[in-house]
Amino acid sequence: EVRVRFPPSPTGNLHVGNVRSALFNWAFARHHGGTFVLRIEDTDAARSTEESMRGVLESLHWLGLDPDEGPEQGGPYGPYVQSERRELYAEIVDRLIAAGHAYRCYCTREEQEERIGAAGGDAQGGYDGHCRDLSESQLSAYKAEGRDFVVRMRMPDHDITFTDLVRGEITFPAGNVPDYVIVRGNGDPLYTLVNPVDDSLMRITHVLRGEDLLSSTPRQIVLYEALAAIGVGSGRTPLFGHLPIVMGEGNRRLSKRDAGSGLAEYRERGFLPEGLLNYLALLGWAIAEDRDVFSMAEMAEAFDIRRVSANPARFDPKKCEAINAAHIRALPDAELVPHLVPFMIAAGLVTDPPQADQLALLEGATPLIKERLNTCSEVVDKLRFLFTDDERIEIEEKARLKPEEGQVLDTAIEALRALDSFDRESIEAALRTGLVEGLGLKPKFAFGPVRVGLTGSKVSPPLFESMELLGRESTLARLERARA
Ligand code: GLU
Repeated sequence: EVRVRFPPSPTGNLHVGNVRSALFNWAFARHHGGTFVLRIEDTDAARSTEESMRGVLESLHWLGLDPDEGPEQGGPYGPYVQSERRELYAEIVDRLIAAGHAYRCYCTREEQEERIGAAGGDAQGGYDGHCRDLSESQLSAYKAEGRDFVVRMRMPDHDITFTDLVRGEITFPAGNVPDYVIVRGNGDPLYTLVNPVDDSLMRITHVLRGEDLLSSTPRQIVLYEALAAIGVGSGRTPLFGHLPIVMGEGNRRLSKRDAGSGLAEYRERGFLPEGLLNYLALLGWAIAEDRDVFSMAEMAEAFDIRRVSANPARFDPKKCEAINAAHIRALPDAELVPHLVPFMIAAGLVTDPPQADQLALLEGATPLIKERLNTCSEVVDKLRFLFTDDERIEIEEKARLKPEEGQVLDTAIEALRALDSFDRESIEAALRTGLVEGLGLKPKFAFGPVRVGLTGSKVSPPLFESMELLGRESTLARLERARA
């Protein structure tokens, strides 16, 4: 049985790197009919917030990456929030110490630096193993002094090798990784402990995560093995797959601080969840050589972790928009409209909730703009004119009508007034006859002023359709007002 996990630390908003990890785990679980576990890694109390945790839950829901087990769903291996599991960790640490896999270290930072400096080494994160095998008398001396201690894992003196599902065989040479801290001086368990402990207790079979975490893997493998030796958890070390680094601008790793890295931004801009996920899937994976656009159901069906690339993936905001645009175009109008409504409400163009006539107008206008929307928020600028009162249409500075264009509007008004039926074909026919044939104007010069009168701008959705949607009265009122 496949069991994978997404273990975010609730210390801020999710970023696209997190979401890509969640997505690949989700797709892997779905592909294998496995279980997708959400675990909240909030042991860093100073940085974790309740609000951020709620944000994670809500974001996953928005994305449609719903966990099978997690804080909301529950499940057989809960609780799924690490701050609720502290007693469990304390007990396991005691057992690791008792069995000799971990030990208490009483060294102060100054003592360590002094020793390492004296030995000609550099002290960055290194540890010389001083407290590995303290004698009883040394131990009691430290205790008598009332010293604080941290707990360290005892690293083996052999190489650590594993086969990464993405990168193949990886070896960390013996001596490369110092005995690392799993419990702080104040008793707080660290990520280095709780992450593998919970993987083991939650029966995780595969760990798919960003390459930035590769350096923790040898330490974690040692811990999984120690847990197996003391009979805790699954007794198995999960298989690892490290997903390629995501690069941002200028050949640097995309960081949390970079624009375009936060999930919230994509929601605010009106990306469709499937559009964003489709793009994130391309950061390391491809459904086929010549195909960029696919649904999440198709991804789940086709996903194969061994076909994920180890090469860094470049985050391309333009391509991200283009993929989203393809998803917008593919949605039936009736399904797209509900995605547009919140943006129209936020812009004050429709009421909350929208009235029936507003919805009808939006539904009628959606086909006119759908081909040109990259994101749902763009609906606001494109359709503002349709939802603005006739008297409030302002003509943009750069679109101001020239005096000689007055005649064009007069002729258009006359032609439209004479119409029996105010539908797209009749409108177009009347304007062509009146302006192009009657006044001998090129279409561009004929329809340009009419567009400005109607919308206030030189660019707008298709003109005749827009007129039909607005109706005869509004159309004439606007053209007359522009003429005045
Ligand atoms: N809580 C860790 C993080 O968000 C989890 C990393 C992992 O997948 O092991 O970075």
